Amino acid sequence: MHIVVLPGDGIGPEITAATSEVLSTVSERFQLGLVLEEHAVGHASLAQFGTTVRPELLDLAKAADGLILGPTATFDFKDEARGEINPSRYFRKTLDLFANIRPARTYPGRINRVGEFDLVVVRENTEGFYADRNMEEGNGELRVTQDVVISLRRITRQCCERIAEVACGLAMKRRKRLTIVHKANVLRMGDGMFLDICKATAARYPELAVDEVLVDAVMAHVVRDPGRFDVLVATNMFGDILSDLTAELSGSLGLGGALNMGTRYAMAQAAHGSAPDIAGQGIANPVSLILSAALLLDWHGVRSGQPRFVSAAVAIETAVAAAIGQGQATRDVGGALGTAEAAAAIAARLQT
Ligand code: ATP
Ligand code: MG
Repeated sequence: MHIVVLPGDGIGPEITAATSEVLSTVSERFQLGLVLEEHAVGHASLAQFGTTVRPELLDLAKAADGLILGPTATFDFKDEARGEINPSRYFRKTLDLFANIRPARTYPGRINRVGEFDLVVVRENTEGFYADRNMEEGNGELRVTQDVVISLRRITRQCCERIAEVACGLAMKRRKRLTIVHKANVLRMGDGMFLDICKATAARYPELAVDEVLVDAVMAHVVRDPGRFDVLVATNMFGDILSDLTAELSGSLGLGGALNMGTRYAMAQAAHGSAPDIAGQGIANPVSLILSAALLLDWHGVRSGQPRFVSAAVAIETAVAAAIGQGQATRDVGGALGTAEAAAAIAARLQT
């Protein structure tokens, strides 16, 4: 399996190096033959090549079996004419990675902030609010006056259908419960269509138990009784906010792994940002990106019919849980290890 690795900004290079170490270990143990090919994106690429994403990276990404993208400094990249492209948006759009799969679960060792749970947020990734700021705020044109800004949200039948299908398929492989998260009482047309389509899609899976919850209410339900949820499907912005909550409830944002996937390509990417406040200190939690990489291995294994990749993904998750359970983890989850040491503790559990 050939993976293009893009370290990114802030804590990106640190957690990417940690993830590569774990992948090399798991590759040896499960004979995966992983080839990791690293290229610069974000500030490193801007300094070297005058653009945050070189166009040739798209061909390399398409030729590879998967992508790992470290967090990037999204907020810094404002002017595309100066080569400041948002790498995350670029790959999601150009590779049509419409589904963002964000699992969250509790671990042994009582680092979670609420009761036990094991759920997945399925976030639509290509439309809705902040899929594309050029659209949502008209590339700056929608500043009506100095004091008034309009932001637009586009919702389409096609995108609702495909995200609903992914969520139902995932729920069928898990505990067969689907929760549709929406705000159709206010956003009657956009979220109304999303809700209708999710219900209609779910109706084709008679074994699924389906419910719907308003996005504001779901925050309360997830805190009060997270164990009742299995798969939650949401439009872009709601899914983003909800998955920060579920990651933190599981112990830390630094545990939030994610896979961006479409019909042909997939990209592992932590659910959180570049965490500039802790960058360069060697203390960031690498688990988010390590679990994201495990999701990528699983995706590849299922797609290509190679069970050893699926086994490798399970082994990584088991090793992560065991390390956390024994307190061999970074500070954000109550441990005392640095980024590299936390990764080494996981890798050690994957040997032989
Ligand atoms: P973005 O807009 O890119 O999502 P953000 O402003 O939401 O960025 P994050 O980078 O997601 O910020 O970080 C939010 C908080 O969580 C910060 O205090 C950061 O230090 C912490 N954090 C994020 N990722 C990790 C991690 N892997 N390990 C430890 N702490 C983290
Ligand atoms: Mg964030």
